[in-house]
Amino acid sequence: MINNENKLKKYGVVIKNGLFLHEFLKYQYMATLRFKALEDALTRIPIEVATPVGNTSDYFGLYVFDRIKMEKYLPKDANKAVLDAIDLGKRIDMKLADQIAMGMKSWAMSLGATHYTHWFQPLTENTAEKHDSFTVPTGRGTAIEVFSGELLVQQEPDASSFPSGGIRNTFEARGYTAWDPSSPAFVMEGTLIIPTIFISYTGEALDYKTPLLKALHFLDKSAVEVCQYFDKDVSRVNSNLGWEQEYFLVDEAVYNARPDLVQTERTLMLGIPIKTRHNEVAPNQYELAPIFEETNLANDHNLLVMMLMRKVASRHNFKVLLHEKPFAGINGSGKHNNWSVSTNTGINLLSPGKTPRLNLQFLTFLINTLVAVHKHNALLKASIASPGNQHRLGANEAPPAIISAFLGQQLTKMLDEIEQRVTDEKMSPEEKTAIKLDIGKIPEILLDNTDRNRTSPFAFTGNRFEFRAVGSSANCASAMIALNTALAVQLVDFKEDVDAIIEKGVKKDEAIFRVLRRLIKKSKAIRYDGNGYSEEWKVEAAKRGLDCEAVVPLIYDAYLTPQSRELFKRANVYTDVEMEARTEVRNDLYSKKIQIESRVLSDLAMNHILPTVIQYQAMLIESTLGLKNLYSPKEYDALASRRLKLIKEISDHIETIEDKLNEMLEARKQANTIVHAREKALAYAIKVFPYFDEIRYHIDKLELIVDNEKWPLPKYRELLFVR
Ligand code: ADP
Ligand code: MG
Repeated sequence: MINNENKLKKYGVVIKNGLFLHEFLKYQYMATLRFKALEDALTRIPIEVATPVGNTSDYFGLYVFDRIKMEKYLPKDANKAVLDAIDLGKRIDMKLADQIAMGMKSWAMSLGATHYTHWFQPLTENTAEKHDSFTVPTGRGTAIEVFSGELLVQQEPDASSFPSGGIRNTFEARGYTAWDPSSPAFVMEGTLIIPTIFISYTGEALDYKTPLLKALHFLDKSAVEVCQYFDKDVSRVNSNLGWEQEYFLVDEAVYNARPDLVQTERTLMLGIPIKTRHNEVAPNQYELAPIFEETNLANDHNLLVMMLMRKVASRHNFKVLLHEKPFAGINGSGKHNNWSVSTNTGINLLSPGKTPRLNLQFLTFLINTLVAVHKHNALLKASIASPGNQHRLGANEAPPAIISAFLGQQLTKMLDEIEQRVTDEKMSPEEKTAIKLDIGKIPEILLDNTDRNRTSPFAFTGNRFEFRAVGSSANCASAMIALNTALAVQLVDFKEDVDAIIEKGVKKDEAIFRVLRRLIKKSKAIRYDGNGYSEEWKVEAAKRGLDCEAVVPLIYDAYLTPQSRELFKRANVYTDVEMEARTEVRNDLYSKKIQIESRVLSDLAMNHILPTVIQYQAMLIESTLGLKNLYSPKEYDALASRRLKLIKEISDHIETIEDKLNEMLEARKQANTIVHAREKALAYAIKVFPYFDEIRYHIDKLELIVDNEKWPLPKYRELLFVR
């Protein structure tokens, strides 16, 4: 072994920070950790899970305070108050809230609950809660269990630890959580969990649930009014969401041996590249899709499931990766949002119906959706953009960051016909009958699988749209707020236009046809049935005027355009202040994420990768020198040429990595001097982020060179195939 620094220097080995060879030995530790982790993973004994006995229906919802339990545990008036709050959005009287709290407490305690918590959705992508005990000392050496209406309805969490985009500084220091009766409370691990909204004392939303409820409320109102054209019995319209949660599972020990996974949820450098690209599913990738529900409920359930997945996985020594792109070169994870709107009369408004009248209603909602998505395509993209999701959209191995809608042949043909056959002239009775007959021919079941386009970010799949651009770690509310608000406001405009024509003496159906024809023409640019991954589409989309921005902080700008501000104000979903605050939070989160990734990448490279590589190179040098002693100069030249090339190659990679790391550090320092959230995020996106791939490229090359036994980090095949 070579053991002095000068000698190493002489042979061109780059020594960083006066690192001596004996210090290299400590890096053996990392490689040891890797093999220890692999051993742990390979020798795990599966933990048996006892499946509950009986039929699923026997225990379904056992821990949920649903309508049946409410009836059992609540006095009549209190029960009615909750039902009215759920079904009609009515306020709950404080006296009744006391009774509701008492009933809830009795039920929860019957299941062993000792604590309660308000569960809310701050502007990070996770949920938060603050546990309090039911038990209160009486001061006489005894204690009682207390849960009042006040405690049910409102709580004050330590709000300062959640992002607010400056709202709390500007207005009122405190924030509070408030009960959402439309999402039932439940018991988990000895705690009564109450879904709540989270707002500042001056009323600004600090969470995802508040604006979601507002958007859904506005959609209900505006959609009911449009439904009145077709069916007087409609008094309520719901938005539905069926999410498909994708995720990776990796062994906990192997995960812990990858500091990049631990700290950033993604691998910042490669393990031996996997040659086959899995387009649909990747190894160790899974999907979970429950039956769709009303959107607010479905979203609460998604957040709950993400939390449960983490807990259950760790019980089995697994780690769940909800990151959108944990592994380069391998299919990422999304969360398709299957979305529809339906009425209290049981009609899915995005499903073709049995009669021409129902089909005209269907076309009305379909076309208005297209208009909304077209008009707000930039905003919809902003609603799903995140530091993690940027790897799934607009990057290598990903579809472009462009929102378009897929309809399929049949519906495209139908819209084309309406466009051609309807005019602003009065239609003859024959023309009207003919077009209605044709509309009546839209098959009730449109689920034409051959026609389903997997590359479209917003695809019609027969009775719903599938918003596929949503990221796996996201709170679906973000996308659902944008989409439902956009449709809701568009429906208001639609009704105004139709009513204006009716007022001029035109029959209702004809007025609807006329407006629909205009809207079909207007929104044509959003319809694209071709290959969304192709290069042609990028060019074509730009020509059509669709938003093609791919830099995340610039994508976020769509939140603050006059058009978006107006949209949210009209629907009473966000004020300007809330909108600005939220955008600031997003930009802040963006900077922080990239900053952490950048630091972790530097740390791994400097402290784990380069020392290992240098050590390996030193061994190469030593053995090459050995050859020199053994052979004649001529034989040596022939024998050593490959090694000499390799030694040089390693030095080149090391040098580039060090240069790039230094440049990245400078870029980071520069970015950190910027105060303004958007400018800072932009600096991170444009000046820091591009170094990741460059540095990674050289590290990945080195991994292919260095002895597998020495490599400190678990490789892809170990992360993905070991268990
Ligand atoms: P895929 O072929 O994309 O995997 P699935 O049939 O598995 O589709 O359904 C995916 C999700 O779509 C499920 O959560 C399902 O409940 C939901 N879904 C089905 N119909 C509707 C609808 N009308 N509205 C909203 N979501 C729906
Ligand atoms: Mg799907």
